[in-house]
Amino acid sequence: MSPDGGEEAGGAMSREEAARLLRQRLEMGATEVFLDGMTRAEALSMLTRAPRRATVPPPAVSATPVAARPATSSASAPALPEEYDDLRAMAMACTRCRLAEGRTQVVFSDGPSQARLMVVGEAPGANEDETGLPFVGAAGKYLDLLLATVGLSRAESVYIANVLKCRPPGNRNPLPDEIEACSPFLRRQIDLVRPEALLAVGSFAGQLLTGRERVSLGDLRGTVHSYHGVPLVVTYHPAALLRNPNWTRAFWSDLQLLRGVMDGAGGA
Ligand code: SF4
Repeated sequence: MSPDGGEEAGGAMSREEAARLLRQRLEMGATEVFLDGMTRAEALSMLTRAPRRATVPPPAVSATPVAARPATSSASAPALPEEYDDLRAMAMACTRCRLAEGRTQVVFSDGPSQARLMVVGEAPGANEDETGLPFVGAAGKYLDLLLATVGLSRAESVYIANVLKCRPPGNRNPLPDEIEACSPFLRRQIDLVRPEALLAVGSFAGQLLTGRERVSLGDLRGTVHSYHGVPLVVTYHPAALLRNPNWTRAFWSDLQLLRGVMDGAGGA
């Protein structure tokens, strides 16, 4: 599925991929791991024997968290800036993964950094790569419209960012090492924006922020999760809605859920 998509990245995992997944879960502070088809002994063995993927040096969140969440630092990786402008500048010059080679622009965010809601998508597409802004194509306009139906103005109340800041070639799916390299930027953005609520659109954003990488989007949506204390709703990517209009009702239901959370958090 393309960066504008919202479907699953299926397929069997290699031993190295499984080990990386387990390490990510631990670094994210997870206290439980789903071991589909794997015993606890096998998982522990994998963690101690498999080499860590070394193709991309991951930027680490520093040991001093801005928000009330556990730090996810790595002793060997440089810390990310504590100031928003410094973080943005660092991302705009980033060459930590292969996607730097083909991008036109780094797409860091759109919207006020003190927004009530933060929408997290997947990765820039062609329009975003060209303009430097997320969600500017047809899917973005549809998202604006849907948010407006629950009283959320994109211009005034919504901050938007993606899991990846650079466009994958041909709009292919993000690769695991690209997500590993880039997602610390997103995590620090969430720390600094500190929204009242998060809306993850599409499976990559939903799986990353819930820490449930093997759970389908259909199973993640329809409930309120917590991302280190911030209410999180997962739903379809608006581009997926354009391809599958039958999912619009479910999206609407998820927006109502989100709106209810935000109303409970402090009103409109
Ligand atoms: S996708 Fe993220 S990690 Fe990769 S070069 Fe762009 S900003 Fe850096």
